[in-house]
Amino acid sequence: MEDILDQICRTIDEAADALLAVSHDIHANPELAFKEEHACRVLTGALAERGIRVESDVYTLPTAFDAELETRGDGPTVAVLAEYDALPGIGHACGHNLIATAALGATIGLHAVQARLPGRVRMIGTPAEERGGGKEVMARAGAFEGVDAAMMIHPAGFNMATMPSICVAEVSVIYHGRSAHASAMPHKGVNALDGVLLAYQAISNLRQHIRPTERIHGIITDGGQAPNIVPERAAADFYVRAANERALEALKPRVQACFEAGAKGSGCEVEVNWAGVDYLDINTNWPLAERFEAHATGLGRAFMTREEIESSFAGSTDMGNVSHRLPSIHPMLAAAPRNVVIHHPDFARWAGSEMGDQAALDGAKALAMTAAEYLLTPALQSEAARAFEVSKGLG
Ligand SMILES: [Zn+2]
Ligand SMILES: [Zn+2]
Repeated sequence: MEDILDQICRTIDEAADALLAVSHDIHANPELAFKEEHACRVLTGALAERGIRVESDVYTLPTAFDAELETRGDGPTVAVLAEYDALPGIGHACGHNLIATAALGATIGLHAVQARLPGRVRMIGTPAEERGGGKEVMARAGAFEGVDAAMMIHPAGFNMATMPSICVAEVSVIYHGRSAHASAMPHKGVNALDGVLLAYQAISNLRQHIRPTERIHGIITDGGQAPNIVPERAAADFYVRAANERALEALKPRVQACFEAGAKGSGCEVEVNWAGVDYLDINTNWPLAERFEAHATGLGRAFMTREEIESSFAGSTDMGNVSHRLPSIHPMLAAAPRNVVIHHPDFARWAGSEMGDQAALDGAKALAMTAAEYLLTPALQSEAARAFEVSKGLG
């Protein structure tokens, strides 16, 4: 095994320039969820160039792709996942160019030893992480059927074996009233903005009585056209977050009731549109996460303890949805100093920096070594499977 891991790391070192060119190209051309055409082309092109079989426009998403190595095929299947969408206005402030590059590098590293690997290795390009829940959409279309373990890395301001995470549901509401002259004929009007404000206030009241792990936050996206016109339409977007799926399902109807209260109090009609896909919390597969941490530690990275992770901030990712279907890991690698947080414009600069480059290359090596070890070690396979079964029982 040592010999295989060495060859993987050597291959990734040799491919470093090409890998970083891909990272910088995606970084310089940020694309929003579902529109990652350039990134998809660059990544699939890099795979095809090395003779790796890849198909794009898969599992209902035009910018998704699926590649498979020519391994021995006699064993479990491991999937390395790539994200490559960016954020509106602030580009790659979540550093998904590094996620894509790490996954590509891991695949290239594993490709060099494919004839010696049992099982199957796939690289799956998963668009639309920032909104739309691309992985959930792809999962429903069968993308992860037959996959025994899934892994990816995410950049951050520190090294962590997993990301503390919570669930999130997105909801848009539109209130429909009746316009009228706000001064001459106010009694003829039904004020849609009042509907939104009553709901907003009801949600503010609700916030006192939810768990510390829960969050409800929103913005008003339409508040009317002019002060002298009673708004006939008003709209708002909210995110509702909870620690796990059960808590989220319990919280959603309470928020729904606030929206309905807004309609009732203002005399409006309300349309409540919950997104078709909720993001679930991450069900970390610790046997795999620990092996990833060991490999990344071997590359010179210092990781947070589990206690430190538990007391850290919590974000949301559609990798959570994958992690409730099969053993999965979502470790974070430092690509920026500690005080720089993802989704801040500063993080976008670090995602294109030397520190970002190092995270992508270390990520590639640690992912590939973890994947190879998994395929070569039946004990790790059963440990991962057992931990997953236990987590489902507790879920
Ligand atoms: Zn993000
Ligand atoms: Zn992200």
